[in-house]
Amino acid sequence: MVSSPFIELADVEKRFDDRRTRRTTLALAGLSLTVAEGEFVCLLGPSGCGKSTVLDLLAGFERPTRGRVTIGGKPVGRPDPDRGMVFQEATLFPWLSVLDNITFAPRLAGRPATDYRERAQSLIDVMGLRGFERHAVYELSGGMRQRVAIARAWISQPLLLLMDEPFGALDAQTRLDMQELLLAARERNRSTVLFVTHDIEEALFLADRVAIMSHRPGRIVKDIVVPYPRPRTYEAMIATPAFGELKRSIVAMLRRDAAVGAPVAG
Ligand code: ADP
Repeated sequence: MVSSPFIELADVEKRFDDRRTRRTTLALAGLSLTVAEGEFVCLLGPSGCGKSTVLDLLAGFERPTRGRVTIGGKPVGRPDPDRGMVFQEATLFPWLSVLDNITFAPRLAGRPATDYRERAQSLIDVMGLRGFERHAVYELSGGMRQRVAIARAWISQPLLLLMDEPFGALDAQTRLDMQELLLAARERNRSTVLFVTHDIEEALFLADRVAIMSHRPGRIVKDIVVPYPRPRTYEAMIATPAFGELKRSIVAMLRRDAAVGAPVAG
């Protein structure tokens, strides 16, 4: 028996109607994508092609105008802590400490501290935040704030983590450190991850599969299985003979096919 995919977007269309200006934006059209439980998939595509819209549909912030969006075989309903989100700018509570930010969701749900204390400590350790638990978040660098945001999303043990260019605002070195931390943390928290980026190396370093989107209206034009075994290091990845060729072929695809939204065979 073939098991059904954990996430399924089937022939999805998303149209935004602006009643005030009477303008319609067709963000997604004919987009189909499946993700298995525990998989790490990067959505890669040009700016404005609808990547965030795909995450919004899965988070339950938006509904498709056509097609089907299901998680675990059920249509996506309201936003739920089972689906954690991390955005480009860490959306933390500035008046709360690092620890109180991380434990916000279970405390809000009235869960006893014994339920989440150990997990919080393990996330603090793996995200390199030990010693900063009592710091206010405004005292932290951008990279540290983003680590708090990831720990806060993971504390609820989400089945699905939706990440929208979470490292896009960071400098190159911090970004690489964060990517390594994310991979290390995921070794312990094996949730399914859908990660949006427009950075080819980031996608290849992090993902099991890279789904490439066309220009708006977005749809998946190519689905690539990343050939690097885990655990990965960035240095080992770029040293493989196949890396340059894979990156070059994705650049060509984004330039040629994604730019005109043409179908790509294979
Ligand atoms: P990406 O994440 O790939 O940059 P988005 O998903 O943010 O792209 O946006 C895709 C298109 O849909 C863009 O043209 C954007 O302006 C439009 N769009 C997104 N959200 C809305 C909205 N709430 N109302 C109107 N247009 C929207």
